[in-house]
Amino acid sequence: MQKKKPVRQCVACREKKEKSQLVRVVRAPDGTISVDARGKAAGRGAYLCPTDSCLERAVKSRALQRALECEIPQETFERLRAQLKEGGDG
Ligand SMILES: [Zn+2]
Repeated sequence: MQKKKPVRQCVACREKKEKSQLVRVVRAPDGTISVDARGKAAGRGAYLCPTDSCLERAVKSRALQRALECEIPQETFERLRAQLKEGGDG
């Protein structure tokens, strides 16, 4: 018997991975968009591979905007990218 682990889909490359291998980007009820390192923040979320390329692709293809139902300004994008690096395997 194999226990199923929670799987989520990256909004950029559409690869399905274990939840723990993706990062959750969340739009809080106050409109703040951030990387939700613990995956528990309230709000509307989208899952991404923790890579620059998937973040960039998600924003350029507007997949992230669609998932979060809001715009992603350049400065928010830069902030997400920085947060992604901090949360990476460093
Ligand atoms: Zn991806």
